[in-house]
Amino acid sequence: MSAQPAGAAAAVPAPDAAAARPPARWWRLARRLLAAAMAVLVAGFLVPEPGRIPVEGATPRDWNPRSFWHEPWGASGVHQGIDIFAPHGRPVVSPVPGIVLFQGQLPMGGNVVGVLGPKWRVHYHAHLADGAAPPRFVAAGTRIGAVGSTGNAAGKPPHLHYAVVSLLPLPWRYRPVTQGWKRMFFVDPAEAMQVQR
Ligand SMILES: [Zn+2]
Repeated sequence: MSAQPAGAAAAVPAPDAAAARPPARWWRLARRLLAAAMAVLVAGFLVPEPGRIPVEGATPRDWNPRSFWHEPWGASGVHQGIDIFAPHGRPVVSPVPGIVLFQGQLPMGGNVVGVLGPKWRVHYHAHLADGAAPPRFVAAGTRIGAVGSTGNAAGKPPHLHYAVVSLLPLPWRYRPVTQGWKRMFFVDPAEAMQVQR
């Protein structure tokens, strides 16, 4: 205060009566809900993402690392995942602990299973041999299906199409490539699997 020039205090507007009032109850509630939502959001990032190859017995030799974002790629333009080749019927296991968000049939994916795992990432498994329902809660390694060639993989060698989608946009991952904005959502599966080649 002593540092202020004389007369400066007069220029400061009177505190607004409404602003000085304690926060309304709804605002306190909203803040509490926001804090809870933030805690859940942060908790999702604290769950370790152990990462593993979602095909039993598969090794990094069973897919082409350059197939992620390879183009041109059919109807999707770029390949938003990797294809892990394995014999028909080989168990497909969840790469992460999580919750089975969806399971069903899609025109391109055939029989698909989506697992919500750590870091708010959905692990998408397509072309499964059968549509058997996996358990709702899975650990890393829980069987969720079998390798097949359903959907637009019909007639091709059996493989698992594996993609990892972040529900939260990751803007720093934008790349000046075809459909580069989608790189804010599609994570390189090799990164999620923590595979060193
Ligand atoms: Zn694929």
